[in-house]
Amino acid sequence: MPSFLERWRERRILRRQPIAELDWRAALARSQALQRLNASDQARLRVLATLLLHDKSLEPVQGLEMDSGMRTWLATLACLSILKLGLHWYRHWHSIVIYPDTFVPEREYVDAAGVVHRRHTPLHGGAWERGPVILAWDAVAHSGDGHNVVIHEMAHKLDMLNGEANGFPPLHARMSRRNWVQVLGGAYRQLEERVHAGYPPPLDPYGLQNPGEFFAVASETFFEAPLRLRNFSPELYQQLSLFYRQRPLPE
Ligand SMILES: [Zn+2]
Repeated sequence: MPSFLERWRERRILRRQPIAELDWRAALARSQALQRLNASDQARLRVLATLLLHDKSLEPVQGLEMDSGMRTWLATLACLSILKLGLHWYRHWHSIVIYPDTFVPEREYVDAAGVVHRRHTPLHGGAWERGPVILAWDAVAHSGDGHNVVIHEMAHKLDMLNGEANGFPPLHARMSRRNWVQVLGGAYRQLEERVHAGYPPPLDPYGLQNPGEFFAVASETFFEAPLRLRNFSPELYQQLSLFYRQRPLPE
């Protein structure tokens, strides 16, 4: 329960910097994931998005200009994952950097022989531990149909709350760590088999990079194409429901 002071602070922000009705309607209209929520969840999401826009700094770069509609859309997607968790799950980081298009970070990695390489891979998004979230606007704008770069990067941020992004975010008290590991591991292998057998993958095969990417990709599908995820693995759908405390599909 938020304290009296927190509620007072929330009310003040909501009064002074509300999301405009037009921007809110436009955000709802463009996303099935948002339309699946009931009216009271949508109202709570609007509150969270307003608070996020106040608390975090949205930093467009390379000439990108963001109007209030774009800011609302981004904040709303970012808050969908934490609708039932709360904004404090996004503590420890403060900014979202937004490129107009894919961006190429220069990253160093050390191979098995101990040689340092520089990698230049164009990215749609990134999340640095305790650092900013980085997004490409064109990918944000084209969220839907199972893909959502914002939910993906936010999943990494949630995952990093207890260390590196390894597909093992801090689970709630009543959740079983053993079930989580078994279910995610099993679904990972199932996806691997499907991809190798040449079947259309139910989840983005990018998730096979490592368990951290698998959790992020599964989270995208959970919110954007929940039926497809549940058909693929009802157990995975169940674990993600327990973690996010949401059920995108009617019972
Ligand atoms: Zn990722």
